[in-house]
Amino acid sequence: MFDIFLSLYFPSLQWEEIGEVDENYAPIHTYQVCKVMEHNQNNWLQTNLILNEGAQRVFVELQFTLRDCNSLPGGVGTCKETFNMYYYESNDEEGRNLRESQYSKVDTIAADESFTELDLGDRVMKLNTEVRDLGPLTKKGFYLAFQDLGACIALVSVRVFYKKCPFIVRNLAQFQDTITGSDSSQLLEVAGNCVNNSVAEDLPRMHCSAEGEWLVPIGKCVCQAGFEEVNDSCQVCRAGFFRSVLQTPACSKCPPHSFTRVQGSVGCTCEEGYYRRDSDPPNMACTRPPSAPRNAISNVNETSVFLEWAVPEETGGRKDVSYNILCRKISVDSRHYEECESTVRFLPQRNSLRNNSVMVADLLAHTNYTFEVEAVNGVSELTNPGRQFVSLNVTTNQAAPSPVSVVRKGNSGKNSISVSWQEPDRPNGIILEYEIKYFEKDQETSYTIIKCKETEIVADGLKPSSVYIFQIRARTSAGYGGFSRRFEFETSPYCKSCIYIDNTHMLFCAQCVCCNMTVIQHHVCGKSLRRCGYSKAKQEPDEEKIHFHNGHIMYPGVRTYIDPHTYEDPNQAVHEFAKEIDVSCITIERVIGAGEFGEVCSGPLRLPGKKEFPVAIKTLKAGYTERQRRDFLGEASIMGQFDHPNIIHLEGVVTKTKPVMIITEYMENGSLDTFLKKNDGQFTVIQLVGMLRGMASGMRYLCDIGYVHRDLAARNILVNSNLVCKVSDFGLSRVLEDDAEAAYTTRGGKIPIRWTAPEAIAFRKFTSASDVWSYGIAMWEVMSYGERPYWEMSNQDVIKAVEESYRLPGPMDCPVVLYHLMMACWQKDRNSRPKFEEIVCLLDKLIRNPSSLKALVNSSHRSGGFTDGFVSVTFTEVGVTDITACLTGIDLGSSVSQTHVTSLISRTLSRKHT
Ligand code: AMP
Repeated sequence: MFDIFLSLYFPSLQWEEIGEVDENYAPIHTYQVCKVMEHNQNNWLQTNLILNEGAQRVFVELQFTLRDCNSLPGGVGTCKETFNMYYYESNDEEGRNLRESQYSKVDTIAADESFTELDLGDRVMKLNTEVRDLGPLTKKGFYLAFQDLGACIALVSVRVFYKKCPFIVRNLAQFQDTITGSDSSQLLEVAGNCVNNSVAEDLPRMHCSAEGEWLVPIGKCVCQAGFEEVNDSCQVCRAGFFRSVLQTPACSKCPPHSFTRVQGSVGCTCEEGYYRRDSDPPNMACTRPPSAPRNAISNVNETSVFLEWAVPEETGGRKDVSYNILCRKISVDSRHYEECESTVRFLPQRNSLRNNSVMVADLLAHTNYTFEVEAVNGVSELTNPGRQFVSLNVTTNQAAPSPVSVVRKGNSGKNSISVSWQEPDRPNGIILEYEIKYFEKDQETSYTIIKCKETEIVADGLKPSSVYIFQIRARTSAGYGGFSRRFEFETSPYCKSCIYIDNTHMLFCAQCVCCNMTVIQHHVCGKSLRRCGYSKAKQEPDEEKIHFHNGHIMYPGVRTYIDPHTYEDPNQAVHEFAKEIDVSCITIERVIGAGEFGEVCSGPLRLPGKKEFPVAIKTLKAGYTERQRRDFLGEASIMGQFDHPNIIHLEGVVTKTKPVMIITEYMENGSLDTFLKKNDGQFTVIQLVGMLRGMASGMRYLCDIGYVHRDLAARNILVNSNLVCKVSDFGLSRVLEDDAEAAYTTRGGKIPIRWTAPEAIAFRKFTSASDVWSYGIAMWEVMSYGERPYWEMSNQDVIKAVEESYRLPGPMDCPVVLYHLMMACWQKDRNSRPKFEEIVCLLDKLIRNPSSLKALVNSSHRSGGFTDGFVSVTFTEVGVTDITACLTGIDLGSSVSQTHVTSLISRTLSRKHT
């Protein structure tokens, strides 16, 4: 606040001008009047014209003494103890011509303290101070006047002033001296001016209060680029420093590989050979294009080639390195290279690849190609340093044959149909054999496969008057081609002497009973050593025939899982496989999850004569339909048939009271996917392999008894407090209504796409081999601590990518040997996938020999791809013999296991040699 005093003097002298001394004997100049004994006093003291200098409101501070009337000797008849203050506004000097009536009264002024004779004697100065304000003033100046009506007054000082808000710099804006407003409550809005080298970010304003204080700052100025704020001013950035508008207030040193030699720089110039993209932030170092990719390898599979490389040694200081692929093939005359055909496909794409690999498909068979993998980054386009690439020469193999397209029906009998076909349009090599698959229409889970070298077969052992579906595919040394479309052929009407063997399942003609039976449903309980795999029964020298049911080769006399659907009364199935528990034995303590049919709870189970132990209690919510009850209890009917340490154990069911419940052992750590996500990176590799081993062991058991899970995934594995993993979720509604991951396929079924083998997605071919595929995905989930397979890719893209041979990459820090196992589970040809028996065997060996788990997927990539060392780590530490032992030590059709061994080894070796 500032008080500005205005000058004044007193030209009117009805009051006396007297020089005096104060109590300290300092001289003072006063105007006095003291005509207390005389009547009708009206004495005026008037000032000169006081110019108000633009102020609309001025303050008058008076200092005066006043005589106490009571102390006057001889009565106080006319004595007053107040005087009046007036003012008159004017633009000009009007001198003494003012009339009394022209003045406006400001106030009557009284003394707080008046003096007496005694005070005079003691030289005590009882000085009063009063302040009054005038306004709003509209003219150039004003006169003040004091009217005495008979008091004894000495006016010691009159100070006239106004207030203003002083010059100030706030938020880099200058606000000039500002005289306050005319009203005591008025705030004057004042615009500020940005200090030198600054600009208004938001128009700066402040408010000047009537008391002369600056209030409520709004908006601000900021130093312009190249300057920084120092003590309310903007100072220029020194050479070597810069400041861009968007940055921190201070000037910054030029980032690496850039410089500036002048002061006031808004950015720095890149050193020669370094660049900056427009989108790069100014404080980012200048960067340069990457060097070429390193250690490129190729892996040819028929007419596809998988290219893989390591990141360039020099990324140029950027994270946006990507790769482009140039594809050229040797011309027909072998003289020069030409661009590849436009039909060649690159997966996931040809340019701007962020991964270090690409799959190139649909190349020509037996053709030499050159691929150049070029590394680029965000600044490559700003320069022309020459392309940085690594090249690979590749010769494609033979393509698989095209599908058989012409299939004809020959003679058909009651029990047989003869079928012939034409060689595929593009055999792409010598056809080694044909595979003919057939099954009764709508009975796809039970089918027969015949392999033969001719282009004609007779399918026998068929039912009369029945429609059969035939599909044929050819095999060359390049492998199988695709199956032909489905052809429907019908047998002749059946003979009169038919007998029923099993009225729920099938009928056989009397004379056919001794022929090959297509389907045999075994309900024989008891443990057996049946394995999943093939059994071959030779039929004709050049023909072999295998019967499948639900993906299993049918053997006589083995324990098989019984589908509760085959019971007419589902209650009967429940009570055959599940024990009824009295509800009084169960105490529900808390809710632990939400199931498809109701809440999942936990609490103790007290069975008579047994120690109490914790259980999980699945409940069926009220208002269920009969079908829901049947499906709910169906899970118990299935689970009750299992008895294995890695399969969730059924304690029993409660069906006699409501709510209906399924009681299972309690798994303290809940579902595996959530458990892993919660404990990311917390387990040793051996612990993870132990989990994988448990899952595989449970699956081997299910496979052995002929149960196909169809929804194997980490979310359907439960973990107990000892980290034991158990397979769970055996819904009867195996269309997977209960799995949020399940999506409808084009064929109508609901399938958890990311976990499901391609053949199961494409034609609902669910087998233990498709469970193996899912197991591979679950392995990947485990090794990546619950990462979502294929991340956020859409289901459609996942289907497409898998179909085009793309596979999930190895998870971070995943042992190479485990990644190989996953890759083996994801072989397109389901017969080439390992069996659960083999998986358990391999995992056991890894656990016994932990050093075999040391070579990690990423470390081998980091060290430059697939070197000799990589191959020897894989096969000397784990040992080819170990893997082979897992595969051949099993009583399978040996050709199958042998094929698998070769495929595993050859894939790895071919990587080594390219
Ligand atoms: P479900 O209906 O089987 O998918 O179960 C739903 C959720 O309940 C699971 O994801 C688990 O978190 C929990 N749950 C189910 N069964 C058990 C169990 N036996 N022990 C512990 N938690 C369980």
